[in-house]
Amino acid sequence: EAKALGKNRMVRYVPGMAEAAQCEADLLQDLAAATRSGQLEVHYQPTIDLADGRTTGYEALVRWRHPGRGLVPPAEFIPQAEASGLVVEIGRWVLERAVSQAAAWTAETGRPIGIAVNLSPRQLSDDDVVTVVARVLADTGLPAGQLTLEVTEGVLLRDVDEAVGRLAALRALGVRIAIDDFGTGYSSMAYLRRLPADVLKIDRSFVQDLGSDGRSTTLVASMIELARSLGLEVVAEGVETPQQHAVLGDLACSHAQGYLFGRPLPAPAHDPVGDMPSGAVPEPREEVAAL
Ligand code: C2E
Ligand code: MG
Ligand code: MG
Ligand code: MG
Repeated sequence: EAKALGKNRMVRYVPGMAEAAQCEADLLQDLAAATRSGQLEVHYQPTIDLADGRTTGYEALVRWRHPGRGLVPPAEFIPQAEASGLVVEIGRWVLERAVSQAAAWTAETGRPIGIAVNLSPRQLSDDDVVTVVARVLADTGLPAGQLTLEVTEGVLLRDVDEAVGRLAALRALGVRIAIDDFGTGYSSMAYLRRLPADVLKIDRSFVQDLGSDGRSTTLVASMIELARSLGLEVVAEGVETPQQHAVLGDLACSHAQGYLFGRPLPAPAHDPVGDMPSGAVPEPREEVAAL
């Protein structure tokens, strides 16, 4: 029972095989309605400057507060929304919410709180994307340099020239571009060469084995060095243990994100003013749970 598991626990939205097709149609219909009736939520996960342990900003992560099923994680509906095109509408809403939240935190703290928003391939190929981003920045007053748009190699699987052109246009607004999940794609070097970017996010799968597996440690060290050589900021994703944290310190990694520092939570659960990211205060858990 979803409710009994607590407010921020996530549950799966996975149908049995026989019902898969009907369920997929139902899911999309429900999701379209959910988007319009306020069932989507944005949760925020802090990004930490490893040099001083302070929160520099947050990544916006969408969740679906399903009336019967509890908190549904994005992996259960973003792929379907991407395939159907509904992701454009969802993404626009997330962008508006997240950027106004960052503007509010900035006003509250007097510090430039950054916000990172994930941009799917379909969103990037939407003709209005640059106009929409420019309008949201203008409406909220957030300085463009405080917004980072995160893209994955998936944007190169569509029209490469279009993707590169769009990212350049977004950067021309002053927005930063991050390459998300770095190292997991088929051609990480190719997209690093093609995509105009400012930030490299090292995928959690590499960070996981830091310190325990020599190979992963070497790979992460090279990625950090690669980012430095290219003049990119680097963020290690999915830091969960003090040991991973320590190794990242040894490797002079500049930024990190992960449960060790803070889980994705609704905006009011965060305190950018007090700036207490390091798990000193036990935080409510947000987890995927089976129904
Ligand atoms: P991502 O952009 O790579 O986001 C990081 C994911 O790793 C998030 O999962 C986050 O909750 C999780 N994570 C962070 N730290 C840790 C950790 O220490 N340990 C573990 N095990 N996991 C950690 P989440 O929120 O389920 O999002 C999954 C993916 O869904 C995201 O991956 C992103 O690709 C996509 N997504 C989320 N929100 C949006 C959105 O608004 N728009 C689009 N297009 N995609 C989104
Ligand atoms: Mg991301
Ligand atoms: Mg990522
Ligand atoms: Mg990821």
